[in-house]
Amino acid sequence: MLEKLKQKLAQTAQTVVDNIKLPEEQRNQRLEICKTCDQFHSTDFCKLCGCYMPVKTYIPSVSCPQKKWLPIAVVNSDKTENLD
Ligand code: SF4
Repeated sequence: MLEKLKQKLAQTAQTVVDNIKLPEEQRNQRLEICKTCDQFHSTDFCKLCGCYMPVKTYIPSVSCPQKKWLPIAVVNSDKTENLD
């Protein structure tokens, strides 16, 4: 179980490296939504998607499986747009 979680974390971290990071303020808004969600586990993983949310919330192109937060397009380092 722990090995599987480590693999999932490493995959998620690599996805972050491969993508443009979301600005800190917007990433924190996503994470705050997760922290109030009944699917958020005390280990910081989402029970639905299985992702480590402190990392996943940095990835602009991903979304919450319950659509509580949506993908965001990074136009440049200073500007973002919602993709919904
Ligand atoms: S990704 Fe969505 S379902 Fe998962 S913990 Fe965050 S808000 Fe909840």
